[in-house]
Amino acid sequence: MKSRTATYAASSLPDITRDSSVYRRLLAWPAAVREPRAFSPVFPYSERHLHCVWYDDDLRPTSLKDASGEPVIVERPGRWNLEAGPDFLAALVRVGSRMIAGDVEIHIHPRDWISHGHHNDTRYDNVRIHVTYFEAHVDRALFPPGTIHISLQTALHHKPGFSLDCVDPTAYPYSVRGPRRPCHEIIKAAPEGTADALLEAAGKERLRRKAAAFADIARERGTDQALYEEISTALGYKHNKTPFRRLARIVPRDALRHESAGDPHVAYAILAGVSGLLPKEPSPAWPPENRRFLRRVWDDWWPRASRWEHLSLPENSWRLNGLRPVNHPLRRLMALACLATNPHPLPEAVTRLYRRSPNLGRATGALFDFPENFWHHHLSLRGPRLAKPVALLGKHRLAAITVNTIVPFLIAAGEKEIPLDNLPAEEINSIMKSTAAALLGPDHNPRLYRSGIRRQGLIQIAHDFCLPGDAACSECPLPDNLRNQLKSGAFPPGN
Ligand code: SF4
Repeated sequence: MKSRTATYAASSLPDITRDSSVYRRLLAWPAAVREPRAFSPVFPYSERHLHCVWYDDDLRPTSLKDASGEPVIVERPGRWNLEAGPDFLAALVRVGSRMIAGDVEIHIHPRDWISHGHHNDTRYDNVRIHVTYFEAHVDRALFPPGTIHISLQTALHHKPGFSLDCVDPTAYPYSVRGPRRPCHEIIKAAPEGTADALLEAAGKERLRRKAAAFADIARERGTDQALYEEISTALGYKHNKTPFRRLARIVPRDALRHESAGDPHVAYAILAGVSGLLPKEPSPAWPPENRRFLRRVWDDWWPRASRWEHLSLPENSWRLNGLRPVNHPLRRLMALACLATNPHPLPEAVTRLYRRSPNLGRATGALFDFPENFWHHHLSLRGPRLAKPVALLGKHRLAAITVNTIVPFLIAAGEKEIPLDNLPAEEINSIMKSTAAALLGPDHNPRLYRSGIRRQGLIQIAHDFCLPGDAACSECPLPDNLRNQLKSGAFPPGN
């Protein structure tokens, strides 16, 4: 496969369809641009009510002022953050003649910033807009420099007909009639099929870019090792990608196959040993089967430890807090060991499987030919045997490996007729949902992006247009570019 690697060049990558080049024409930016639920005895609502007020153009007062009395105009309330960290990301507000871009944190009382510990939490370093219901003196030194403070109480009091009783927090953030987006207005008025074509074109462009990135890595590291490293990285989703990639570099596939003589159990012992996650000895409290398993791993590891242990990762390289047991790195390393000991060059093995099966997700599953092992019946080293076996890799992980590694490799290798209609769908996430709500409107049918390729399209549009922190919808080039393409008949492709 080395000769194939040598032929990779970004310029020779096939455009997987002309659709993706149509999408690229939509990308041109104008040159000039671009907690816990807490109730209070005197505030019988939750912070989430305030989140809804901040997010929804129809609820948010237009007469907002900052703590010094300067008028505040919200250009973009930010992306509703459903994960840890600030409540809204990448907001944009105008204060007098200044534009302020940054994250937004919302509280009932100003003092909650301290009581929630945000002043000592680096995830809040990009907060620039602190919104509270009540107004009170705050110690500005405890906020990131340049943070403005906005109190909602007076402005809401003067908003005609407004009552927090009428806010339904369960309707947010996706099903609400939120800020009307210019892209949605264009799509709504466009011929039927425009949204489908846009998502598919963007999805194909995303795969084309992933293929170009894979080709770069393959040129540097060889295609076999590149596949091994990229799949290893995907196994670390989402908090342990870096240590999984480092591990695959420290223990390259060639060396691991040679050292383990193709035995996945020995390969597992080496990977577990170098990972730094292997317990020194079993606890007497563990079930006998678990203690036997760990002893066997050590039996395979210690004769080889002298070659590898100086390369071991520190245990704190791994993020284990909050991890579902099924995703624990010590489980996923067994999948990596099975892949590493595949007797064939990985490019050949992958290509053969895909030529044989039009079902991309199933073909990826076949790549991991797991021999029966401890991890089919356990979720942890200390836990009891499960009543039913559990797959080492679930369907969402296999989908992610297919989309992020296998298909980009196939495209970069010039494989023809990849059945992208069968691209498995990655698990829906908050970026896909918020982009869909913006583009397709709050009442859209989620069936529109049930397919894998359209979900990739949502992510690509988010990255190209919606996520950049310094751009507002009013400056986004997509609506105008899309309107022009529709007018000229160049979009949707194939018209
Ligand atoms: S930034 Fe996103 S939501 Fe706003 S107009 Fe552009 S594509 Fe639409």
